[in-house]
Amino acid sequence: MFAELAADLADLPALLDRARLAAQRVLGSLDDRPVAAAALNPAPLALPESGDGLVAALELFGARWESGLSGSAGPRYLGFVTGGATPAALAGDWLTAAADQNANTGTGSAAAGIEREAIGWLGELFGLPLAGAFVSGATMSNLVGLAIGREWLGEQAGVSVTEDGVGALGDIRVLSGSPHSSIGKSLSILGVGRRHVVTLPTLPGREAVDVSALEAALRSGPAIVVANAGTVNTVDFDDIQAVVALKQRYEFWLHVDAAFGGFAAVSPNYAHLVAGWEGADSVCVDLHKWLNVPYDSAVQFTRRPDLQAEVFHNAGSYLGLPGEHPEFMHLTPETSRRLRALPAWFTLAAYGRAGHRDIVERNVDSARALGERVDGSDRFRLLAPVRLNVVCFTTTGDERVGDVLDAVSRSGEAFLTPTVYQGVPAIRAAFSNWRTGPADVGRVCSALGM
Ligand SMILES: *Cc1c(COP(=O)(O)O)cnc(C)c1O
Repeated sequence: MFAELAADLADLPALLDRARLAAQRVLGSLDDRPVAAAALNPAPLALPESGDGLVAALELFGARWESGLSGSAGPRYLGFVTGGATPAALAGDWLTAAADQNANTGTGSAAAGIEREAIGWLGELFGLPLAGAFVSGATMSNLVGLAIGREWLGEQAGVSVTEDGVGALGDIRVLSGSPHSSIGKSLSILGVGRRHVVTLPTLPGREAVDVSALEAALRSGPAIVVANAGTVNTVDFDDIQAVVALKQRYEFWLHVDAAFGGFAAVSPNYAHLVAGWEGADSVCVDLHKWLNVPYDSAVQFTRRPDLQAEVFHNAGSYLGLPGEHPEFMHLTPETSRRLRALPAWFTLAAYGRAGHRDIVERNVDSARALGERVDGSDRFRLLAPVRLNVVCFTTTGDERVGDVLDAVSRSGEAFLTPTVYQGVPAIRAAFSNWRTGPADVGRVCSALGM
C-alpha cells in the first residue's frame, strides 16, 4: 500500500476526529463568518505528485479554501431556497460516505431497504401513498416525472417512446401556469424541447394557473400538465384539487412540482395549499431544501412505476431484468447510486413529523415577521402577500435592488437573492433553515436598514 495511505489507515480513528474538528470549525463559525463569502482566487496549484496524507490535506484545504465557504448552512442565508442540514441529517450523510453502499439493487446490502423505508416515511409525512425513489434534486425529480409522462403519452398513442424515440410521438404539449426553469431544462434533456412548454394564463395578480384556461387547452388532446405547488417568487399554489378534477373529463399526465411548497403538507396550518395532490401522477419534492438534509437530495413519487421502469431500466447480463418490483437502478437516471436516503432517514427518525412541522412553522413565522417589517417600512414594499416562507419585495424609491443586495452581502449579516416579478426588479428572502429564529430576522432587518 502507498505509504501515506497505509499511515492514514493506521491512524484512522484519530484522523476521523481531525475531520470532525474541521467540520466543527465550519459549523461553529456560522454566527460570525460572512454569510456571503468573498470570491477566492488562490494561485493555481499543480496536482500533488505524492501528497502528504490527510492531515496535510486538511491543512491545505484550511489555508486555501475554507475561508471561501459561505454561511449557507446557517440561519441567515436566505438566497434561493437553500435549507441547511439538521444534526441527524449530517450524521446520516457522514455514515453514507463511511459505509459507501451502492443503493442500486437490494443485493448483498440493506441499502435498498433503507431507501424504501425512507420513501415510505416521506409518503406518510406528505400524505402521498405513492411509489418513489431518491434522486439528486428537484430538477432530476421533475425530469423523471416528465419522462414518465412522456412514456404515458406514448401509451395513449400506442407507441413506445423508450424504444422508438420521441419522434414516434406527434406534437407534445406541456401545459403550466408558472413553470420553474428546470421544466424547460428537463424537456431539453428529454428530447421534447423547451419550446413545447405552453405557458398558460395565471389568475389576476397571481402566479397560480387559471384553471379555465387549462381546461380550454386540454380540449385539444392529451398533454402533460405541470401543476405548481410553491412558485419561487411568491410561493403561489395552483388549485391542485380543481386540476385533479379535470382528470375525469380530459386525458393528461399530472406532474406536480412541489420542490419546496410540498412542505406545506407537513403543517396542518398550511396543508390546504396542496390539498388533492395525492391525485397527481407524479410529484417532485426537494429534500435538500426544506427537509434540511445536505446536498444533494430529492424524492420523486409516481403512481406508474411500471412506465418508469420502461424508461429507466438498465438490464444487462450481470445486472438482471427489472421484474415486477424493479430495483432502484431501473427507476432513476443513475445506475450506481449513493445511499442518498440515509440523511433523510436519520432526520425523520430523530425528529419525526413534529420536529419537521416545527421547522416549517418557525420558518413561515420568520417570513411573516420579515414581511410585516417590510410592509411597515418607507424603504421597501411587498410585491405579494407572504403565503408561506418567501418574502418578495422591492424598493420604494430610486434605490437599485442590486445595490441593496450588495450592501447586505458586504455587511456579512445575511444573503438574499434578486428576482424579477411582473417586470419589477425585486428581492427574495427565502426561509428554510432549521436554525433560523426571531433574532436572525432582527439581524436581517438591520442589514436591510429597517
Ligand atoms: C429549487 C426548485 C427546483 C429545482 O431544484 P434543484 O434541487 O435545484 O434541482 C425546481 N422547482 C422548484 C419549484 C424549485 O423551487
